[in-house]
Amino acid sequence: MTINWSGRAFDYNDEEIAVLVEAARHADPLTQGKYLEQFQKDFSAYLGVKNCFAVANATNGLDLAAILSGLKKGDEVILPGHTFCASAIPFGRTGAKIKWADIDPETRLISAESIEKLITKKTKVVVPVHLYGLMADMKAIMALARKYNLFVIEDCAQSIGAELSGKKAGTFGDCGVFSFHGQKNLTTLGEGGTIVVKSAALAAKIPGLRHNGARPYTQKREHYWIPAMSNVDLDIEGVWPYNFCLSEPQSALASAVLKRLDSMNDKRIARAEYFRKELEEFPEISFQKVRKGYKHIYHLLSAKYDGKIFGKSNNDLIKSLFYEYNIKAIVQYYPLYRYPLFQKMGFGKANCPNTDEFYDNMISFPFHLWMSDDEFSYILESTKKALKTLRGGKK
Ligand SMILES: *Cc1c(COP(=O)(O)O)cnc(C)c1O
Repeated sequence: MTINWSGRAFDYNDEEIAVLVEAARHADPLTQGKYLEQFQKDFSAYLGVKNCFAVANATNGLDLAAILSGLKKGDEVILPGHTFCASAIPFGRTGAKIKWADIDPETRLISAESIEKLITKKTKVVVPVHLYGLMADMKAIMALARKYNLFVIEDCAQSIGAELSGKKAGTFGDCGVFSFHGQKNLTTLGEGGTIVVKSAALAAKIPGLRHNGARPYTQKREHYWIPAMSNVDLDIEGVWPYNFCLSEPQSALASAVLKRLDSMNDKRIARAEYFRKELEEFPEISFQKVRKGYKHIYHLLSAKYDGKIFGKSNNDLIKSLFYEYNIKAIVQYYPLYRYPLFQKMGFGKANCPNTDEFYDNMISFPFHLWMSDDEFSYILESTKKALKTLRGGKK
């Protein structure tokens, strides 16, 4: 068997393909129409929120969130150093200063504690990232945000359907952003996303910002073509609008796939919990701690390998899985402050020992939903064998 980390991204069923074809044939227009409206309603109902807007991808959603937050040059924004680069780039674009928060060594997520250490008079925004499918401690983070008057943007790209105390990711902060990229738990043909916004006043600005400032003329018109088909206007002083729209066929597909999101997540959860349990006999492998009240939806299956007592590293484990078993695990995420891009932009400094320690010892197992039960068992059994070999006879 050969198993890649990313593997096949998504397996649409016949019903979903039929919905897609129907929208491609009959949507009128092909963008900004009834399917978009319907999906926004469906997703709002799923999360239990009022204001939800589909966008072309989560990076665009974060760009909108950054604009709505009012972040500008001279302000500071707090982000975890341990995340995918797209969590940070939209905030870098504002000209604000990025401050890197460390992760909690047990959950491997940004925490209220790590955020509070970085707060200054200039801090305006904080971006908790719910990485791998597990939510950061949003109760503590929101309490902190109220205390220091911070705007909170939840990066939920990897945690659609994750919960804390029965409340979904993306519904705690001022904004929540979701991704429908090809490797995420739900995808609209490889690209897509949504942004949810608490404030009705901010929500009112999104349609214009999302679509080149376009809106209908509101005054009475004798002739529909005078002065032009539609108006354009500026929603936020000094900010040019974008085009971040999701197409009608993609929106139709999103509504269809959303119906089975929970059952797909349940399958991920069952597999991940089994994998974790089976590896309990190897304390050198540790997974994200899931505290009481949290629903981890396991977008990915990441772990730390503490092989030092056997003189081994995560590279040895990955090497063994790859060369002996044809299983391609990977390491992620390179701490953002170590990348040349962020260094060149002036954000190369950080004091994040837990982030460094986790990255330097981590392994991310292949965990796409479409692998067979046999493939999944093969990964588990091979990992056990590799771990035993790496122990080299030591207990
Ligand atoms: C995937 C991802 C993004 C970006 O999503 P896109 O839809 O590809 O733009 C942002 N943040 C995190 C944590 C992600 O995993």
